[in-house]
Amino acid sequence: MVATTEVRLQAPLAAARRAATWWGALDFDERRARLLAWKRTVAARSDELAAVISEETGKPVGDALLEIMLAVEHLDWAARNASRVLRRRRVRSGLLAADQGAALAYRPLGVIGVIGPWNYPVYTPMGSLSYALAAGNAVVFKPSEHTPRTGQWLAEAWSSAVGEPVLQVVTGDGAVGAALCAAGVDKVAFTGSAATGRKVMAACAQTLTPVVIEGGGKDAMIVAADADLDAAAKAAAFGGFGNAGQTCAGVERVYVERPVYREFVDRLSAIASALPEDGDQLPYGRMTVPSQVDIVRRHIDDAVARGGTAVVGGPEAVRPPYIFPVVLTDVPEDSAAMTEETFGPTLVVNPVDDLDDAVRRANATTYGLAASIFSRNRREAVRLAARLRTGAASVNGVLGFAAVPALPFGGVGDSGFGRIHGPDGLREFSRAQSVTWQRFKAPLDLMRLGRDQAVLDRAVRVFRMRHARGAK
Ligand code: NAD
Repeated sequence: MVATTEVRLQAPLAAARRAATWWGALDFDERRARLLAWKRTVAARSDELAAVISEETGKPVGDALLEIMLAVEHLDWAARNASRVLRRRRVRSGLLAADQGAALAYRPLGVIGVIGPWNYPVYTPMGSLSYALAAGNAVVFKPSEHTPRTGQWLAEAWSSAVGEPVLQVVTGDGAVGAALCAAGVDKVAFTGSAATGRKVMAACAQTLTPVVIEGGGKDAMIVAADADLDAAAKAAAFGGFGNAGQTCAGVERVYVERPVYREFVDRLSAIASALPEDGDQLPYGRMTVPSQVDIVRRHIDDAVARGGTAVVGGPEAVRPPYIFPVVLTDVPEDSAAMTEETFGPTLVVNPVDDLDDAVRRANATTYGLAASIFSRNRREAVRLAARLRTGAASVNGVLGFAAVPALPFGGVGDSGFGRIHGPDGLREFSRAQSVTWQRFKAPLDLMRLGRDQAVLDRAVRVFRMRHARGAK
């Protein structure tokens, strides 16, 4: 028997398949014009969209607008750069194939299934939608069950700006997501938790459907002894408490060099304590999903039970649907608040002996999405970033990379694999196609049955001259 969810997917998928043929056959300029028309519609009606996001997630309208602005930058970049990154180009054919001309082009995959989360219901899926569309694919998008209207709004805006059903939206919970994985799309771009990512990958394995997994994070901030502590504390507060901590690349752990540890904790605590006592006045919204509140509560309780100190907030900060800011110190590195994604407005601040210790602890996690470093020695900080096992890092700021469309975004380990954004994001939704053609008859024709021994001997002599010289 065919499940209802599968039946519900059939019509949108078939429409997307038909639209993919039309969309994939357009040239880059034709697609760019339509993507920019969609962009203009989203930008012009951003107040309307921000209101929908705010209603569905509980985040302030200002935060929703910022999210839209960032998403539109990405859409604009993908539309304008697809041709430069993906168009057909000649490549050198090399000595052995000197008789061949060679070219590389990035072709669309077909239909991409995009499965999105609720925390940034426009910005996050747009990282897949805009890059997949710009690469010439049609998309079937399943937004989170907590933000279906945001997803539908994007598709309606597409429809009014472009018309052809290249972007389809299907709504529903995980069962619809699972059905999309099994529906025979050409790639699945999943953003969500590592646990669901594993299910997505297992389902896609059955049909060898490739996947991009944008998973969660447990991002660390490192504060060096020479850092601007005011700037670091403000950034930690924004990165940790902003969006009620429901940010995949938000700050969850802070490692501070011992000489400035107390001062940093004092400055951060001052910021956190100054936030309003009234939930409606908080600079961030309610917790979007009730079940997340239980996870945050468990992490705080466990941290305190294991000897950590709540210098701001504590278990009583959890007053659903709000969680007031929590600053925890000296929390054991193996407690839940240090090893699992908390996804709430909590920050754990632990002292470290030196920057090597900070790097070691920052890397001691199954996640690897992003990190931030504060130091007045920018060069050293950038060098330190290279030692972090993450997909992104920002120096003297948080989340800087998320606003740069030319930079790829994605993680390692439980944070997933594959990249959205930037040139890598465009290629992620493409198939590289290599084409060669004979330009002239090869002087040393090796690619035939019964080749001439003298020709092979000459080729081997040239080969050894080129590659074996200097061998020990
Ligand atoms: P989630 O894993 O619960 O759900 C994500 C999506 O997967 C939803 O649309 C859901 O309906 C769908 N889904 C659930 N079960 C499924 C299944 N078996 N098969 C297919 N799809 C299924 O995540 P969430 O709670 O919506 O989002 C929060 C998580 O997303 C956090 O872990 C956060 O860090 C992560 N996130 C990551 C990024 C990133 O870019 N790396 C961005 C935003 C959020």
